Amino acid sequence: MDNNIIEKIKKTVSYSRVFENVALSEYTSFKTGGPADIVVRPKDAQEVKKIVALARDEKVPYYILGNGTNMLISDDGFRGIIISLKEMDNSIQVTPLSDGESYSVLTSAGCTLARLSNEAASKGLAGLEFAAGIPGSVGGAVVMNAGAYGGEIKDVFEWADVLDENGDIIRLKNDELKFGYRRSIIQEKQYIVLAVSFILKKGDEKTIKAEIRELNERRRDKQPLEYPSAGSTFKRPEGLFAGKLIEDTGLKGFSVGDAAVSEKHCGFVINKGKATSADIYELISQVIEKVYDKTGVVLEPEIKLLGFDE
Ligand SMILES: Cc1cc2nc3c(=O)[nH]c(=O)nc-3n(C[C@H](O)[C@H](O)[C@H](O)COP(=O)(O)OP(=O)(O)OC[C@H]3O[C@@H](n4cnc5c(N)ncnc54)[C@H](O)[C@@H]3O)c2cc1C
Repeated sequence: MDNNIIEKIKKTVSYSRVFENVALSEYTSFKTGGPADIVVRPKDAQEVKKIVALARDEKVPYYILGNGTNMLISDDGFRGIIISLKEMDNSIQVTPLSDGESYSVLTSAGCTLARLSNEAASKGLAGLEFAAGIPGSVGGAVVMNAGAYGGEIKDVFEWADVLDENGDIIRLKNDELKFGYRRSIIQEKQYIVLAVSFILKKGDEKTIKAEIRELNERRRDKQPLEYPSAGSTFKRPEGLFAGKLIEDTGLKGFSVGDAAVSEKHCGFVINKGKATSADIYELISQVIEKVYDKTGVVLEPEIKLLGFDE
Protein backbone atom coordinates (compact mmCIF):
# COMPACT_ATOMS: atom_id res chain seq x y z
CA MET A 1 0.00 0.00 0.00
CA ASP A 2 1.13 3.55 -0.78
CA ASN A 3 3.32 4.91 2.05
CA ASN A 4 1.47 8.25 2.00
CA ILE A 5 -1.77 6.47 2.83
CA ILE A 6 -0.10 4.50 5.62
CA GLU A 7 1.21 7.75 7.09
CA LYS A 8 -2.27 9.31 6.88
CA ILE A 9 -3.75 6.30 8.71
CA LYS A 10 -1.10 6.60 11.40
CA LYS A 11 -2.01 10.26 11.88
CA THR A 12 -5.71 9.39 12.10
CA VAL A 13 -5.33 6.94 14.97
CA SER A 14 -2.42 6.57 17.35
CA TYR A 15 0.72 4.99 15.78
CA SER A 16 0.58 2.22 18.37
CA ARG A 17 -2.71 0.94 16.94
CA VAL A 18 -1.69 0.67 13.27
CA PHE A 19 0.06 -2.55 12.24
CA GLU A 20 1.55 -3.40 8.86
CA ASN A 21 1.67 -6.80 7.18
CA VAL A 22 -0.21 -8.65 9.90
CA ALA A 23 -1.09 -12.38 9.79
CA LEU A 24 -4.89 -12.49 10.00
CA SER A 25 -4.65 -15.95 11.57
CA GLU A 26 -4.13 -13.94 14.78
CA TYR A 27 -7.53 -12.35 14.30
CA THR A 28 -9.71 -15.38 13.48
CA SER A 29 -11.01 -18.17 15.69
CA PHE A 30 -10.13 -20.67 12.91
CA LYS A 31 -6.49 -19.50 13.37
CA THR A 32 -6.10 -19.27 9.60
CA GLY A 33 -5.86 -16.41 7.11
CA GLY A 34 -2.97 -14.71 5.30
CA PRO A 35 -1.52 -11.22 5.78
CA ALA A 36 -3.39 -7.93 5.70
CA ASP A 37 -1.55 -4.87 4.38
CA ILE A 38 -2.73 -2.92 7.41
CA VAL A 39 -4.66 -3.71 10.58
CA VAL A 40 -6.01 -0.72 12.49
CA ARG A 41 -7.44 -1.07 15.99
CA PRO A 42 -9.48 2.10 16.65
CA LYS A 43 -10.32 2.94 20.25
CA ASP A 44 -13.72 4.54 19.69
CA ALA A 45 -16.52 5.31 17.22
CA GLN A 46 -14.97 8.60 16.11
CA GLU A 47 -11.75 6.83 15.11
CA VAL A 48 -13.71 4.20 13.16
CA LYS A 49 -15.53 7.02 11.38
CA LYS A 50 -12.27 8.78 10.49
CA ILE A 51 -10.53 5.65 9.17
CA VAL A 52 -13.52 4.69 7.05
CA ALA A 53 -13.69 8.25 5.63
CA LEU A 54 -9.98 8.07 4.80
CA ALA A 55 -10.29 4.64 3.18
CA ARG A 56 -13.27 5.80 1.12
CA ASP A 57 -11.48 9.03 0.03
CA GLU A 58 -8.34 7.15 -0.93
CA LYS A 59 -10.35 4.31 -2.52
CA VAL A 60 -8.58 1.71 -0.38
CA PRO A 61 -10.61 -1.45 0.34
CA TYR A 62 -11.43 -1.96 4.01
CA TYR A 63 -13.14 -4.66 6.06
CA ILE A 64 -14.56 -4.64 9.59
CA LEU A 65 -13.62 -7.43 12.00
CA GLY A 66 -15.24 -7.93 15.36
CA ASN A 67 -13.78 -10.89 17.22
CA GLY A 68 -13.24 -12.92 14.02
CA THR A 69 -15.28 -15.86 15.33
CA ASN A 70 -17.51 -16.23 12.29
CA MET A 71 -14.91 -15.68 9.57
CA LEU A 72 -12.92 -17.64 7.02
CA ILE A 73 -10.26 -15.38 5.50
CA SER A 74 -8.25 -16.52 2.48
CA ASP A 75 -4.60 -17.58 2.81
CA ASP A 76 -3.81 -14.65 0.48
CA GLY A 77 -4.99 -12.29 3.21
CA PHE A 78 -6.45 -8.88 2.44
CA ARG A 79 -5.11 -6.06 0.28
CA GLY A 80 -6.32 -3.02 2.15
CA ILE A 81 -7.21 -2.05 5.70
CA ILE A 82 -8.66 -4.44 8.25
CA ILE A 83 -10.46 -2.40 10.91
CA SER A 84 -10.46 -4.57 14.03
CA LEU A 85 -12.88 -3.40 16.72
CA LYS A 86 -11.28 -5.53 19.45
CA GLU A 87 -9.77 -2.56 21.25
CA MET A 88 -12.75 -0.23 21.28
CA ASP A 89 -13.53 1.12 24.71
CA ASN A 90 -15.66 -1.64 26.24
CA SER A 91 -17.17 0.16 29.20
CA ILE A 92 -20.78 -0.71 29.98
CA GLN A 93 -23.37 1.88 31.06
CA VAL A 94 -26.48 0.73 32.89
CA THR A 95 -29.48 3.08 33.20
CA PRO A 96 -32.73 2.22 35.03
CA LEU A 97 -35.90 2.75 32.99
CA SER A 98 -39.11 4.33 34.24
CA ASP A 99 -41.04 1.01 34.57
CA GLY A 100 -38.86 0.20 37.60
CA GLU A 101 -37.93 -3.26 36.36
CA SER A 102 -36.03 -2.74 33.09
CA TYR A 103 -32.59 -1.28 32.43
CA SER A 104 -30.93 -0.03 29.29
CA VAL A 105 -27.43 -1.42 28.93
CA LEU A 106 -25.14 0.42 26.52
CA THR A 107 -21.73 -0.66 25.23
CA SER A 108 -19.47 -0.39 22.19
CA ALA A 109 -19.53 -2.78 19.23
CA GLY A 110 -16.12 -4.08 20.28
CA CYS A 111 -17.17 -5.34 23.72
CA THR A 112 -17.35 -9.13 23.78
CA LEU A 113 -20.71 -10.78 24.35
CA ALA A 114 -19.12 -12.83 27.13
CA ARG A 115 -18.01 -9.70 29.01
CA LEU A 116 -21.37 -8.00 28.53
CA SER A 117 -23.40 -11.06 29.58
CA ASN A 118 -21.25 -11.76 32.64
CA GLU A 119 -21.27 -8.11 33.69
CA ALA A 120 -25.07 -8.03 33.32
CA ALA A 121 -25.32 -11.21 35.41
CA SER A 122 -23.20 -9.64 38.17
CA LYS A 123 -25.63 -6.74 38.30
CA GLY A 124 -28.61 -9.13 38.46
CA LEU A 125 -29.81 -8.24 34.94
CA ALA A 126 -31.48 -11.01 32.97
CA GLY A 127 -31.87 -11.55 29.22
CA LEU A 128 -28.35 -12.23 27.91
CA GLU A 129 -27.79 -15.63 29.54
CA PHE A 130 -28.03 -17.35 26.13
CA ALA A 131 -25.19 -15.15 24.80
CA ALA A 132 -22.51 -15.68 27.44
CA GLY A 133 -20.92 -18.61 25.57
CA ILE A 134 -21.00 -17.02 22.10
CA PRO A 135 -17.41 -15.87 21.53
CA GLY A 136 -18.15 -12.88 19.25
CA SER A 137 -18.30 -9.13 19.77
CA VAL A 138 -21.48 -7.18 20.41
CA GLY A 139 -21.27 -5.63 16.91
CA GLY A 140 -20.77 -9.00 15.21
CA ALA A 141 -23.65 -10.45 17.20
CA VAL A 142 -26.02 -7.70 16.06
CA VAL A 143 -24.94 -8.11 12.42
CA MET A 144 -25.63 -11.86 12.59
CA ASN A 145 -28.55 -11.71 15.04
CA ALA A 146 -26.53 -14.28 16.98
CA GLY A 147 -28.55 -16.75 18.99
CA ALA A 148 -28.40 -19.91 21.06
CA TYR A 149 -30.61 -22.04 23.31
CA GLY A 150 -33.81 -20.32 22.26
CA GLY A 151 -32.52 -16.74 22.66
CA GLU A 152 -31.55 -14.26 19.97
CA ILE A 153 -29.99 -10.79 20.02
CA LYS A 154 -33.21 -9.32 18.62
CA ASP A 155 -35.04 -10.30 21.84
CA VAL A 156 -32.99 -7.86 23.95
CA PHE A 157 -31.83 -5.32 21.36
CA GLU A 158 -33.06 -1.72 21.78
CA TRP A 159 -31.04 0.36 19.28
CA ALA A 160 -27.64 0.65 17.61
CA ASP A 161 -25.59 3.58 16.44
CA VAL A 162 -24.25 2.69 13.00
CA LEU A 163 -22.03 4.37 10.43
CA ASP A 164 -24.03 4.63 7.22
CA GLU A 165 -22.99 4.78 3.57
CA ASN A 166 -22.59 8.58 3.75
CA GLY A 167 -20.23 8.39 6.70
CA ASP A 168 -22.91 9.64 9.13
CA ILE A 169 -23.69 8.02 12.47
CA ILE A 170 -27.40 7.16 12.65
CA ARG A 171 -29.45 5.43 15.34
CA LEU A 172 -31.52 2.40 14.29
CA LYS A 173 -34.22 0.81 16.46
CA ASN A 174 -35.10 -2.87 16.72
CA ASP A 175 -37.72 -2.97 13.94
CA GLU A 176 -35.43 -1.01 11.59
CA LEU A 177 -32.78 -3.74 11.81
CA LYS A 178 -35.16 -6.27 10.15
CA PHE A 179 -33.71 -9.14 12.16
CA GLY A 180 -34.15 -12.65 10.80
CA TYR A 181 -32.43 -15.99 11.27
CA ARG A 182 -28.70 -15.05 11.45
CA ARG A 183 -29.33 -11.86 9.54
CA SER A 184 -30.03 -8.16 9.91
CA ILE A 185 -30.19 -5.21 7.56
CA ILE A 186 -26.62 -4.29 8.55
CA GLN A 187 -25.24 -6.92 6.16
CA GLU A 188 -27.24 -5.68 3.16
CA LYS A 189 -26.53 -2.01 3.76
CA GLN A 190 -22.92 -2.60 4.80
CA TYR A 191 -23.40 -0.36 7.81
CA ILE A 192 -20.86 -0.49 10.63
CA VAL A 193 -22.22 -1.05 14.12
CA LEU A 194 -20.52 1.27 16.61
CA ALA A 195 -22.55 1.11 19.84
CA VAL A 196 -25.50 -0.95 20.99
CA SER A 197 -28.15 -0.51 23.67
CA PHE A 198 -29.97 -3.55 25.07
CA ILE A 199 -33.00 -3.76 27.36
CA LEU A 200 -32.54 -6.19 30.23
CA LYS A 201 -34.87 -7.04 33.12
CA LYS A 202 -34.12 -7.08 36.83
CA GLY A 203 -33.62 -10.69 37.92
CA ASP A 204 -31.92 -12.77 40.56
CA GLU A 205 -28.12 -12.73 40.26
CA LYS A 206 -27.67 -16.32 41.50
CA THR A 207 -30.31 -17.71 39.12
CA ILE A 208 -28.86 -15.81 36.15
CA LYS A 209 -25.32 -17.01 36.90
CA ALA A 210 -26.51 -20.61 37.37
CA GLU A 211 -28.25 -20.46 33.97
CA ILE A 212 -25.04 -19.20 32.32
CA ARG A 213 -23.02 -21.97 33.98
CA GLU A 214 -25.48 -24.62 32.81
CA LEU A 215 -25.54 -23.38 29.20
CA ASN A 216 -21.74 -23.19 29.12
CA GLU A 217 -21.55 -26.79 30.39
CA ARG A 218 -23.94 -27.89 27.65
CA ARG A 219 -21.64 -26.19 25.12
CA ARG A 220 -18.55 -27.91 26.49
CA ASP A 221 -20.35 -31.29 26.37
CA LYS A 222 -21.66 -30.94 22.83
CA GLN A 223 -19.20 -28.69 20.99
CA PRO A 224 -15.52 -29.26 20.04
CA LEU A 225 -14.33 -26.20 21.97
CA GLU A 226 -10.85 -27.71 22.27
CA TYR A 227 -10.22 -27.01 18.54
CA PRO A 228 -10.18 -23.74 16.60
CA SER A 229 -13.43 -23.32 14.66
CA ALA A 230 -15.99 -20.68 13.73
CA GLY A 231 -18.86 -22.39 15.53
CA SER A 232 -21.66 -23.85 13.40
CA THR A 233 -20.28 -23.67 9.89
CA PHE A 234 -23.63 -23.95 8.10
CA LYS A 235 -27.00 -22.28 8.50
CA ARG A 236 -29.79 -24.47 9.79
CA PRO A 237 -31.90 -25.51 6.74
CA GLU A 238 -35.56 -24.89 7.56
CA GLY A 239 -36.94 -27.70 9.72
CA LEU A 240 -33.64 -29.63 9.61
CA PHE A 241 -30.24 -29.68 11.32
CA ALA A 242 -27.05 -29.23 9.28
CA GLY A 243 -25.05 -31.42 11.68
CA LYS A 244 -27.49 -34.33 11.35
CA LEU A 245 -27.56 -34.10 7.54
CA ILE A 246 -23.75 -34.13 7.49
CA GLU A 247 -23.60 -37.09 9.87
CA ASP A 248 -26.26 -38.99 7.89
CA THR A 249 -24.19 -38.41 4.74
CA GLY A 250 -21.37 -40.32 6.44
CA LEU A 251 -19.10 -37.31 6.84
CA LYS A 252 -18.31 -37.52 10.56
CA GLY A 253 -14.55 -36.90 10.81
CA PHE A 254 -14.26 -36.30 7.04
CA SER A 255 -11.14 -34.21 6.43
CA VAL A 256 -9.12 -32.23 3.93
CA GLY A 257 -5.60 -31.73 5.28
CA ASP A 258 -6.01 -30.67 8.90
CA ALA A 259 -9.53 -29.32 8.32
CA ALA A 260 -12.15 -31.78 9.54
CA VAL A 261 -15.83 -32.27 10.25
CA SER A 262 -15.86 -32.55 14.05
CA GLU A 263 -16.65 -36.02 15.35
CA LYS A 264 -18.20 -34.46 18.44
CA HIS A 265 -20.57 -32.18 16.50
CA CYS A 266 -20.82 -32.60 12.72
CA GLY A 267 -22.11 -29.03 12.30
CA PHE A 268 -18.63 -27.74 13.25
CA VAL A 269 -15.67 -27.66 10.90
CA ILE A 270 -12.50 -27.65 13.00
CA ASN A 271 -8.82 -26.91 12.51
CA LYS A 272 -6.94 -29.90 13.91
CA GLY A 273 -3.65 -28.01 13.90
CA LYS A 274 -2.17 -26.90 10.61
CA ALA A 275 -5.25 -26.44 8.41
CA THR A 276 -5.09 -23.63 5.88
CA SER A 277 -8.09 -21.56 4.86
CA ALA A 278 -7.88 -23.34 1.47
CA ASP A 279 -8.26 -26.71 3.27
CA ILE A 280 -11.29 -25.42 5.19
CA TYR A 281 -12.85 -23.93 2.06
CA GLU A 282 -12.32 -27.16 0.11
CA LEU A 283 -13.80 -29.21 2.96
CA ILE A 284 -16.86 -26.95 3.14
CA SER A 285 -17.34 -27.19 -0.66
CA GLN A 286 -17.10 -30.98 -0.57
CA VAL A 287 -19.52 -31.23 2.37
CA ILE A 288 -22.06 -29.08 0.51
CA GLU A 289 -21.70 -31.25 -2.62
CA LYS A 290 -21.89 -34.60 -0.82
CA VAL A 291 -24.85 -33.59 1.37
CA TYR A 292 -26.69 -32.38 -1.73
CA ASP A 293 -25.98 -35.62 -3.62
CA LYS A 294 -27.22 -37.73 -0.70
CA THR A 295 -30.17 -35.67 0.59
CA GLY A 296 -31.03 -33.04 -2.03
CA VAL A 297 -30.59 -30.30 0.61
CA VAL A 298 -28.33 -27.37 -0.25
CA LEU A 299 -26.34 -26.33 2.82
CA GLU A 300 -25.38 -22.68 3.02
CA PRO A 301 -22.35 -21.45 4.99
CA GLU A 302 -23.23 -19.40 8.05
CA ILE A 303 -19.65 -18.17 8.32
CA LYS A 304 -18.52 -15.14 6.32
CA LEU A 305 -15.94 -15.68 3.61
CA LEU A 306 -13.34 -13.00 2.81
CA GLY A 307 -11.10 -13.33 -0.22
CA PHE A 308 -12.90 -16.25 -1.88
CA ASP A 309 -14.94 -16.14 -5.09
CA GLU A 310 -18.52 -16.65 -3.90
C1 LIG B 1 -16.91 -22.00 19.45
C2 LIG B 1 -17.92 -21.08 18.79
C3 LIG B 1 -19.25 -21.13 19.18
C4 LIG B 1 -20.20 -20.29 18.56
N1 LIG B 1 -21.50 -20.36 18.97
C5 LIG B 1 -22.41 -19.54 18.39
C6 LIG B 1 -23.76 -19.59 18.82
O1 LIG B 1 -24.15 -20.32 19.70
N2 LIG B 1 -24.66 -18.77 18.19
C7 LIG B 1 -24.27 -17.91 17.20
O2 LIG B 1 -25.11 -17.16 16.68
N3 LIG B 1 -22.98 -17.85 16.77
C8 LIG B 1 -22.06 -18.64 17.35
N4 LIG B 1 -20.75 -18.58 16.92
C9 LIG B 1 -20.38 -17.70 15.80
C10 LIG B 1 -19.95 -16.27 16.17
O3 LIG B 1 -19.40 -16.19 17.48
C11 LIG B 1 -21.13 -15.29 16.07
O4 LIG B 1 -21.65 -15.26 14.74
C12 LIG B 1 -20.71 -13.86 16.43
O5 LIG B 1 -21.86 -13.06 16.46
C13 LIG B 1 -19.71 -13.25 15.46
O6 LIG B 1 -19.19 -12.08 16.06
P1 LIG B 1 -17.72 -11.57 15.74
O7 LIG B 1 -17.50 -10.31 16.47
O8 LIG B 1 -16.72 -12.64 15.99
O9 LIG B 1 -17.86 -11.28 14.18
P2 LIG B 1 -16.73 -11.45 13.06
O10 LIG B 1 -16.46 -12.90 12.87
O11 LIG B 1 -15.58 -10.58 13.36
O12 LIG B 1 -17.50 -10.87 11.79
C14 LIG B 1 -18.60 -11.56 11.23
C15 LIG B 1 -19.24 -10.64 10.18
O13 LIG B 1 -19.80 -9.51 10.83
C16 LIG B 1 -19.18 -8.31 10.34
N5 LIG B 1 -19.01 -7.41 11.50
C17 LIG B 1 -18.43 -7.70 12.68
N6 LIG B 1 -18.53 -6.66 13.51
C18 LIG B 1 -19.19 -5.69 12.83
C19 LIG B 1 -19.60 -4.37 13.14
N7 LIG B 1 -19.37 -3.82 14.33
N8 LIG B 1 -20.27 -3.68 12.19
C20 LIG B 1 -20.52 -4.20 10.97
N9 LIG B 1 -20.14 -5.44 10.62
C21 LIG B 1 -19.48 -6.18 11.54
C22 LIG B 1 -17.87 -8.73 9.72
O14 LIG B 1 -17.49 -7.80 8.70
C23 LIG B 1 -18.23 -10.09 9.16
O15 LIG B 1 -18.89 -9.96 7.93
C24 LIG B 1 -19.79 -19.40 17.54
C25 LIG B 1 -18.43 -19.33 17.16
C26 LIG B 1 -17.51 -20.17 17.79
C27 LIG B 1 -16.06 -20.07 17.38
